[in-house]
Amino acid sequence: MTHKPIHDVIIVGAGASGLMCAINAGHRGLRVLVLEKGPKAGLKILVSGGGRCNFTNVFADPRKQFLSQNPHFCISAMSRYQPADFVEMVEASGIDYHEKKLGQLFCDHSAKDIVAMLLDRCAAAGVDVRLRQEVTAVTPADDGGFRVVTARQTYVAAKVVIASGGLSLPKIATDLAFRTANRLGLNVVSPRAALVPLTWNSSDREKYQALSGISVDAVTACNGVSFRESILFTHRGLSGPAILQISSYWREGDTVIIDLLPDTDAAEWLGTEREAKPRQRIVSMLKTRLPNRLVETMAGDWFQDVKIGSCSPRQLAQLGARLNAWQFRPGGSEGYRTAEVTLGGIDTNEVSSKTFEVKKVPGLYAIGEALDVTGWLGGYNFQWAWASGWCCAQHLDPIPPGRE
Ligand SMILES: Cc1cc2nc3c(=O)[nH]c(=O)nc-3n(C[C@H](O)[C@H](O)[C@H](O)COP(=O)(O)OP(=O)(O)OC[C@H]3O[C@@H](n4cnc5c(N)ncnc54)[C@H](O)[C@@H]3O)c2cc1C
Repeated sequence: MTHKPIHDVIIVGAGASGLMCAINAGHRGLRVLVLEKGPKAGLKILVSGGGRCNFTNVFADPRKQFLSQNPHFCISAMSRYQPADFVEMVEASGIDYHEKKLGQLFCDHSAKDIVAMLLDRCAAAGVDVRLRQEVTAVTPADDGGFRVVTARQTYVAAKVVIASGGLSLPKIATDLAFRTANRLGLNVVSPRAALVPLTWNSSDREKYQALSGISVDAVTACNGVSFRESILFTHRGLSGPAILQISSYWREGDTVIIDLLPDTDAAEWLGTEREAKPRQRIVSMLKTRLPNRLVETMAGDWFQDVKIGSCSPRQLAQLGARLNAWQFRPGGSEGYRTAEVTLGGIDTNEVSSKTFEVKKVPGLYAIGEALDVTGWLGGYNFQWAWASGWCCAQHLDPIPPGRE
């Protein structure tokens, strides 16, 4: 059954970018319908940041923390809608929050506060949010506008915003954005899982899987980029913020270099200890700087557990080099099941950076993670979602009466 257009704009996806766009389009007088596949709006917001939603980052800089084949694309929107704008909204809603580290802002209480804020504002703006409505296709209609197809019915509207996100969290994700883009002849930058744990290759699995639960402050580096944060050993491989961050730059076959003793020239330190305490065993010495279980696993493989005085300077230099630059060659990544984001997406060259309208398909818009813009871990992805949703809404002009 096809319905007559009673909405000016249909937004596909009640996630971060879709709800932000809906609120602002509603305030501008548009009749907005949001179609959401899931049983709740903002599902990804609810699970984000360990349930506390790292909703923005005060240091968000479009030139620094964002990956895209077209790195300039996000600058315009992120300059027009900044972290302070979202913080203002959070404060106006009386939501308590705190900075955890590195400019990352989290709710004090729960991510539910952010979803409630967005839904309250949708209601105030007269937005119609419909749940359990999976959109299976968006197609241009013969007489202008678009047909938006769900299992229940086909909707029509003059404008459609694709805000259906990427492929992470497979329980709620669909590839609608990429399928629609392909069908309309738009380029899609190959999607891949990012901000994702990296898995052991088979020989490392045997050595290190028993270390599950150990966390180490480290620097990870790959393809010219590095991050200083913690790494976490798991049964499947390495996780933790420094690994998730570097995963966005890692490609199959690449080695990730891990400095397990950042700020220390390990070879120099070992040499000094050799002079000062030659009778000390290497295991005891390393345990002063690294977790016991990790050192015990390294013994016999990375070094022989002997007194440091019995090691040659060359042996210590080799061990030092390995501690400062462990060559971790992942077997793969955990994929979309545990990835926080999707790298790639609709090619931003297909979209206006000002309005988010698809250049070849007037009336169609794409925002948020569906586009080839991906932030680092730390609140940057939500900031992109808010900024793109807000900016898009500013350009969704109400349809003049009589032209509906
Ligand atoms: C576990 C986890 C934790 C995260 N934590 C953080 C964090 O703390 N800080 C941060 O900045 N980022 C975080 N992210 C990333 C962040 O959630 C996303 O980048 C952001 O939600 C993207 O917003 P979006 O609106 O583009 O897509 P989404 O928020 O994913 O919204 C898309 C919506 O579209 C719906 N949908 C999909 N297909 C269809 C369809 N065919 N029909 C109808 N509806 C559809 C989905 O159900 C979903 O509700 C996290 C991600 C995950 C998976």
